[in-house]
Parts: sequence; C-alpha cells; structure tokens
Amino acid sequence: MIASVLSPAPVVISDVSLQIDPDEVLRFQGYKKGGEQPAPEVREIYARALEEGDRLVEPRAVYRAVPVTARGPDSLTVGGGVELRIPEIGRLWGTLESVGAVVCTIGAALESRVRELWDSRELPLAVMLDSVGSAAVECLAEYVNDLLCQVALVERLKVTNRVSPGYAGWDVSEQRLLWRLCPGDPAGVILNRACFMTPTKSISFLVGIGAEARVDHYFTQCRRCWMKACAYRRA
Ligand code: SF4
Repeated sequence: MIASVLSPAPVVISDVSLQIDPDEVLRFQGYKKGGEQPAPEVREIYARALEEGDRLVEPRAVYRAVPVTARGPDSLTVGGGVELRIPEIGRLWGTLESVGAVVCTIGAALESRVRELWDSRELPLAVMLDSVGSAAVECLAEYVNDLLCQVALVERLKVTNRVSPGYAGWDVSEQRLLWRLCPGDPAGVILNRACFMTPTKSISFLVGIGAEARVDHYFTQCRRCWMKACAYRRA
C-alpha cells in the first residue's frame, strides 16, 4: 500500500478494513472506562448505530513525506520553505530527517445519514451515529499512524506519534501549511477559508520520521496498535 515511508509523491490509502473501537464510541458519549455503563435502551441504540456505521464508513487517506531542512525548539522548516510552529517539537520528536503529512476521512455518507436522522427527529440514534463517526475517524488516524510506523521500521526508520493543527498548542491556522505539504483532495477532503475540513469526519496530522526520532510512546502505541502481525512489537 505504501512502498516507502519517505514517498515524495502523494500516496492514497483506501484498502482499509476499519474496525470501529466500541469503547471509543462510548467515550464520545461521555462514558468512562470502569465508570457507569449504558442502560439497556442505550445499548440497543448503540448496537444499531455501530451496525449503520460499519456500513457507511468509506475510509480513505492521502500521505506524503517531505524532507526537514531546519529544526528549532518550537519549529520545523520542511520542503525548503514551509515553517511549522509547533510548541516543544524539538524536544518531543528529537532529530528528524522528514515529516509525513496525512489527511484522512471516513467520507460523507455517515454524516448525511446523521442529518437525515436529525431531520426525522430520531435524535438518540443521530447523536450515537455521530459518535460512531468520530470514533471511526480517530481509529482511522491511529491505523495510518501505525501503518507508517510499520513501513518505516522495515526501512530502519522510526515514526513519531501524530500531532494535528489545533491540538497540543499547534495553531489551527497552520492547517493551511499542512495542506501545502499534502492537499486532501485525493482523499476527497476539502479545506475552507476558516480551516474546516469537509467531510467533517476528517483528521489531518503530521508525524516525524528519522533513524533517531524520539519514540518513547512506542510502548503505549504497541499495546493498542492495529498492525496485529507486526514483528517489531515492543509491548
Ligand atoms: S506494533 Fe509497535 S512497532 Fe509495530 S507498527 Fe505497531 S506501534 Fe509500530
């Protein structure tokens, strides 16, 4: 699917048999692990929403690697001219050779169905299906991060955990810069002037790549990784 984690040309990833994590859906509904569990009537809606979600998700992602040309404590210059200002990135990711930019989405079918349910006042199912969509796109982003990790290890490189514009102090307006590195169009995602993506169940993110990249998170990432057959698993 991805021949090299250093691919300079955009690679479309579409053959993903996504498994939506049911615990993640409940988390979006406000349930905490080990806390209060959903009542039987909620469980029924939850089962229906999961079934609909499985049918409606159309996972797709586009990926591209770009060389890092300069690094600072809070910035990365990539592709010879794009400066990304990400707080503490020097300490968090260490020495990098490249970054990988990703735009992924579960498509528009699920959110159309949520709108339909909303219009027909089937509100509990609409809200639950929306949570299924949020969980699905999170699972897809994790899947792509894990996939990049696995491809990189074969090339004796390491891939850091992901960071997205709007999170961890990275200004959301830099979404545009990420888009310059890897436009979302091949995955069917567009960006508007306010930096919102359509379909809304989409995530863009960046990872660091390098032989000496910091990957202290591997132990936690390996524990929940989607690459079940990975020979490099640490936990
Ligand atoms: S099991 Fe660990 S090393 Fe293997 S791909 Fe997953 S995160 Fe990377």
